[in-house]
This record gives sequence, C-alpha cells and structure tokens, in this order.
Amino acid sequence: MVVKNDPTLMFTNAGMNQFKDIFLGNSKPVDLRVADSQKCLRVSGKHNDLEEVGHDTYHHTMFEMLGNWSFGDYFKKEAIDWAWEYLTSVLKIDKSRLYSTVFEGDKDLKLDKDNEAYDYWAKHLPKDRIINGNRKDNFWEMGDVGPCGPCSEIHADLRSDEERKVIDGSKLVNKDHPQVIEIWNLVFMQFNRKTNGELENLPQKHVDTGMGFERLCRLIQGKSSNYDTDIFTPIIREIEKLSNFKYGENEDVDVAMRVVSDHLRTIAFSITDGQLPSNNKAGYVIRRILRRAVRYGYTFLKFRESFIYKLLPVLIETMGEAYPELENSKVLISKVVKEEEESFLRTLSTGINMLDKIIKETKENNYKVVNGKIAFELYDTYGFPLDLTELILSENGLVANRQEFNKEMDAQKQRARNAANVETGDWVVLAEDDIEEFIGYDYLETELFITRYRKVTVKKKSLYQLVFNITPFYGESGGQIGDSGFIYNENEKIKIIDTKKENNLIIHLSKELPKDVNAKFTAEVDKEKRQSVACNHTSTHLLHEALRSVLGEHVEQKGSLVHYDYLRFDFAHFEKVSNEQIEQVERMVNRKIRANYFLEEKRETPISKAKELGAMMLFGEKYGDLVRVVKYGDSIELCGGTHVKSSGEIGLFKIISESSIASGIRRIEAITGEKAVDHILDQERLINDLDSMLKGNNDIRKSIDNLIQNNSKLNKDLDIIKQNFINIEKRDLIDSAEDFNNTKIIVERIKPILGDKLKDICFSIKKEFTSVVAILAAEVNNKPQIAVVMSDDIIKDKKFTAVEVIRDCAKEIQGGGGGQPFFATAGGKNLNGLDKALHRAKLFVEDKLN
Ligand code: ATP
Ligand code: MG
Repeated sequence: MVVKNDPTLMFTNAGMNQFKDIFLGNSKPVDLRVADSQKCLRVSGKHNDLEEVGHDTYHHTMFEMLGNWSFGDYFKKEAIDWAWEYLTSVLKIDKSRLYSTVFEGDKDLKLDKDNEAYDYWAKHLPKDRIINGNRKDNFWEMGDVGPCGPCSEIHADLRSDEERKVIDGSKLVNKDHPQVIEIWNLVFMQFNRKTNGELENLPQKHVDTGMGFERLCRLIQGKSSNYDTDIFTPIIREIEKLSNFKYGENEDVDVAMRVVSDHLRTIAFSITDGQLPSNNKAGYVIRRILRRAVRYGYTFLKFRESFIYKLLPVLIETMGEAYPELENSKVLISKVVKEEEESFLRTLSTGINMLDKIIKETKENNYKVVNGKIAFELYDTYGFPLDLTELILSENGLVANRQEFNKEMDAQKQRARNAANVETGDWVVLAEDDIEEFIGYDYLETELFITRYRKVTVKKKSLYQLVFNITPFYGESGGQIGDSGFIYNENEKIKIIDTKKENNLIIHLSKELPKDVNAKFTAEVDKEKRQSVACNHTSTHLLHEALRSVLGEHVEQKGSLVHYDYLRFDFAHFEKVSNEQIEQVERMVNRKIRANYFLEEKRETPISKAKELGAMMLFGEKYGDLVRVVKYGDSIELCGGTHVKSSGEIGLFKIISESSIASGIRRIEAITGEKAVDHILDQERLINDLDSMLKGNNDIRKSIDNLIQNNSKLNKDLDIIKQNFINIEKRDLIDSAEDFNNTKIIVERIKPILGDKLKDICFSIKKEFTSVVAILAAEVNNKPQIAVVMSDDIIKDKKFTAVEVIRDCAKEIQGGGGGQPFFATAGGKNLNGLDKALHRAKLFVEDKLN
C-alpha cells in the first residue's frame, strides 16, 4: 500500500501503480497476463475520496482492488467478454441490474467514439443499457503525461424492484446515486500523451481493469451498503458494544461508525506496510486519517478515551486469514494507535478549551460570527476540521466566518505549491526500446551511451536526468543512497551528482547536458564513497541479526538509511535498549566482522527458494518472483543493495546513538571503518585531555571523584561562612533603616553572594520591627532580583501590598513577579535597572505612606 521509488505518489491508489514501470516501458513484463488483488488507498492527490468516506456507503479510504491485466497481450474483446462471463456466469449476478459505459469521443482529443468496445458490449447487453460517457468518466490518464486511453465501466443498479420500475436505471448511471454504482472499470491503454498535449499510439496496447472488492461483495450479498456486508458488520458490532450506540438509528452515529470501521483498516494496514503516523508527508496523511476517526468517535459516539486500538482483534478476525501480517504486527499496531489516539485526545481537549473561551468572548460581545482565522488556527494547530468547529459553534448559536477560513486555507495551499514547484520536461528518447541494465554489483566502470534524457526544474534550478543503456551507478533505493561519479570521453567530462530510482528506471542527475548526447562515454563511480556505503550496508545486516539475537525475534526492520558517513536503523522494540545490550550488540557485530564472512550472493533466486533459505523479508517491500539473496554467515537477507566482498573490510563497527522515534520504534545510528576509528580516537583524546586538565595520574574516575568530594566540602564551608555573613548584613540593614511617618523603610542592594538568601534576610528583618517596609535587591547569576517585605499593619492601615510595590518597580528591570500581600519577589532581564527600581519602589512606598 505504501509506495516507494515514485516521487509522484505516496500510496498505491490504483492497481496499476505496481505495474507502472511496465506501462512506461522501463521493465519487461515476466507474464503477459496477470490477475491480482491490490490494497489501494485514496486519500490524497489525484484520487481523494476521504471526505466522502462514512457519509456515503460505497467509498472507502482503503479498499481491495481486484484486477486483470494484459501487457501487450489480449485487448478489448477478451477484457469485455471475460468481465461479463465472470460477473454473470461465475458469480451469477442478475444481468438485469448491470449497465456498461463506453467513451463517446472528444473533439479536443480528436478522438471518435469507442465503437469497438460498444460492439463487444452489444453482444451481451441491450443497446439502451450501454451508455455513452464523456472524457471525465470514460477516458483514463495516468497523469498529465504518459499512457492513457478510453475506458469502459460496469455499473450495478442495486435499488429495489419497485424503485427500478419508477425510474429506469440507465438514467442514474454515473449520477452519484448511492444505489447505482460503478463496480468495475476496464481501461484500454492505447495512447501516450506528450507534454504538448498530443496523443500518440502506444506500440503495445494494454488492459488494466479494477473492481472494488467491497462493492462486489455488496452486489453478491444483495446489500444496500458496503458496510452491511460481512467485511464490515463484525467491526460495526464491536463499535456498538464499545460505544453503547446502535447502528441504524441515527444518521450521525451511523456516519461515525462507518468512518471508524473504515479508517481502522487504513491505519492498521498502513502500519503493517511500514508507514507509521508522523508529522510529515505520507505519515501525516495517516495521522490525519486516524484523527478523523478519533474525532467522529469523540463527537458522535461520545468516546473520551482511546478506543480504536480495541477494535484491532475483530479486524484481525475478519481479515487476518487473508493478511497474516496483521496478526504478526498486532502489538506494534495496537501500541502505535493507542498512543496516537491518546495524544490527539489531549490536543482535542486543549482545542475545545480554547474554543470554549472564544465562544464565551464572542457571546459576551454579543457577536454571532467567529473570526475565520481562529477557525483556521484550530484546524492548523489542533487538527480541528472546519465542520467540527462549526458543529461546536452551532451548538452555541454561533457561526464561523467561512470566507476568512477559506482565504487562510488558500494561502496555505499556495505556500505549499510554491515550495514544491517542479517542472518536468518530456523525455527525449535517443534509443527506443532499450531496457537499462545495472552492472554495479560487479563493475564500477563501463562504456555506455545515453538512451534518453529530460530536463527537470526544481525551484528555478535546472537538472538533467540521464538514462543509460547500461550503468554501474546504484540508484537510491532500499534506504541506500545513490552513487555519484563521472561520465567522460575525450571531449568532455560530466559529473553525475546523484543517482535515483524511479519506476524501476535508474536516473542519473547532472547539472549539465553533454554537448554530444549521442556520443559514447566511459562511466566511473566514486569508488571511495561506494566502499564506505558498502561497509555501512553490510553492517546494517549484521546489526539487524545481532539485534534479533540480543533483544529477540520481534525486532523487525522499520526503516533504514545507508549513507557513506553513517548508518541508521529503525526497528520495532518496545523499550529502551540498555547500555549493556548496546555493548553486547557492538561486540557481536565486531565479532562477525572479524570472522571475515565472505559475501554469498544469489541473484535471481526464486522467492520460494529464498524463503526456504530463511532469508529475512521486510513487510511492505515489493519483491519480484526472482530475488537477490545476500548472506554473511548467519545473516541472510533479501537485498538489492551493494555490499563488501567480505565482512572484514568493515574493520570496526561502533554505535553512536540509540533513541525512540515513535511509540514502539527505536533508532540506532552507527559508524564503521575509518569513521569508527576516528570516533574512538576522539574519545580517547578527550579522556586524555580531561586527565591532564585534572592533573590526575591516568585515573580519571578517581580525579573526578576527588573533585566532587572537594566541591561538596567547599559548599558546606561556604554555607557556614554565608550564615555569619548574613548576620552582619542584617545588622547593617537594620542600622540603615530610616523613619518615615512612624514606619521604618529599608532600601538596599545586598551582596551578590547572598543573592540566594534574599528571602531569609527579608523574613528576619520583618521580625525586628513592628512597622517596616524593606525593599532589597540582589544580583543572582547575572540577573536582577528584587524582594519586598512589609509588616501586617501596613497592609491593614495603609491599604497597599508588597505585590503592588513589586509590580510597579519590576518594570525597571524588565521583569515581573508577585507573591503574597506581605512578601513579594520579582526577577528580570535588565540588571542595569536595579538601582532605578529600588529608587522607584522607595518613592512608591513613601507616596503610599504619606
Ligand atoms: P467512483 O466514481 O465510484 O469514485 P472511480 O471512477 O473513482 O469510482 P476507478 O478509479 O475506476 O473508480 O476504480 C475502479 C473501481 O474501484 C471502481 O469501479 C470501484 O469498484 C472501486 N473503487 C474506486 N474508488 C473506491 C473507493 N474509494 N472505495 C471503494 N471502492 C472504490
Ligand atoms: Mg472516484
């Protein structure tokens, strides 16, 4: 469900995503005919059904798309005949409920009606049940450019017989009627769209069909809602139990239950497929879906505590047999979901408190309309969608200014657009039909030529993407960064700054285009960088294995970055890895390095064979039928990365950090080889430096211990001295008291060393006099401090307090403070204002005493 290696897509949103490289001609298909089931998620980008989900009964966020595929093999006739045969003969669906649509043609596209498809349908359906569809509904395009073609949909009319008699179903096809819905879409890819908008014929024609499993179930089970099929009812029953509400009695409650049951699937599957909720990109999409479910549960089902994670067992019961990975990641999903729920519930209540305050203020001012900016802030910072804010406002007889809200929203979208301004040019194809060959496991140099290139402009900076007939450059994938290097011939030398992998195509980035793009070049990969990356990649495998043996088999890779400077490894584990365990892991990995295991690599091994060998597979990774197995000793992984020839090359492995990145996910960062040696030498130098600073004799522990003991003794001595000193200072202060209308006033700065004793001094002065006001100031850690103390008679008779004095004079030190009527303190930022503050306080007090 989670897409990797395609910058245009975060999640699989259609069955064809997994075959995109075939349609683009980047890979050759192994089988020309395929049938499959593909988890899809339509919550962002081109397909976004999120707002519909729950409110209608046939759009889900995640759904299972059934498909059959022809890669240059069968075409319209077979696709239509077989679809019909499957629905009506195999599944025995009532023919009278089915309709089909065909592309009616389009002037702008210069295309006629798809008569071919029409004729094949006419064999199965009466003419009035084959409906013309326009470009929007019946012409499928992968994107602004690329493969496209007409499509033909099958719709089903699920209304009751009475209703069907009143209005003919053909009038409701593609009209958003909740009971007349699209079931299956047959796409006939026959054109390629170029950047200038023109269509050209594809050399090979393909079929791509997609049928929503949940809608098909509804059709087979004769239900009027996807949520009434056995895919969803067990989950809905469980929500009823947890919430004490009944499904089917109140529309708001029903919507909420549908939202929760739908989103539960999305969240659980996305976590098992490796995408955890987070605060950016794909992770943020998942977090927002989870929050949407929490919010509906909170508002309409009155949940005040986390509840979604409690639905996991019933989801596993209904879907676990088909998707055993759910059961395997049960603990992780449950932990992550619960924690996310709890944290959002906290945010929700903060947001609601804030909204309550705004409601109160608005009412007090006798306004009816709440500023749209506030609604936007609630949306932006607390994840409150406008409808939730509006709901709460309407319960209080208020509305939000939608115009202002939309303005803020548009401004934010514009900012996002500007940030991601990418222009991609058309491929200039120099050699047709050339599938790029990667030879970088064995060679770092080769002769090559450019097969195609294009210009890409990101934020006004242009780069060229080059594709070669053969390449030693590794394209960034599987967490390993891309290679860099050069291509050159006698006339020029072009720097390859990075290499990426996109839809199975290895793309080399350069800042300039060669003057002669048709020339032959020699390629040379940056060997040093590659070697460091290889050390880090092999170490990652050894680390993975060591973690599993030290911490347990539950350790599973959840993310990885293999860089030339370091490696980063994220894995499922539920508590901090202790220092002892880290040390154990480091020892184990280094032992494996010294064992100097040779790389045993098996390319093109059937996946079943790899499983037999016990190779570790990662969930959410896309593996072909033939895989590459990388083995060092007992570490066996499926991996496409580049590795060292023998583990001894790594030299040394050192973990430099261990932390938590999400609930249940830990992160280890480590370095190898020369970098690890540097690190250890640095540490040693540090210790030597410390030792000589402490003038110790190579026993730094003892030196520091001495230092600590000495320090605490000095502190004790200092306390005794301070105590004596306070007594002297007190006497001086008392002697300095001035008479003012029968009250003693003391205004003094005391010595910085007594700064922390300000309160003590104040209280003992208070005891000395019957009527007194003392204002004392001190410098404490370079910051100004003021304290005011006064006898109770003043508060009573003169009717002012220490707090008033402090608030007034604190302005001079740019600070603030407070306290009790008889004793108040203030701290500030402006040390230079301290004398002024004292003076000001004195005037204030004298004024009051007068
Ligand atoms: P609709 O118009 O109903 O949104 P669509 O045109 O977006 O459908 P396609 O992109 O053609 O649908 O996808 C093929 C099939 O996938 C549809 O016929 C339907 O059965 C199913 N499908 C599409 N979107 C969803 C969804 N959000 N939830 C469940 N099934 C869906
Ligand atoms: Mg749709």
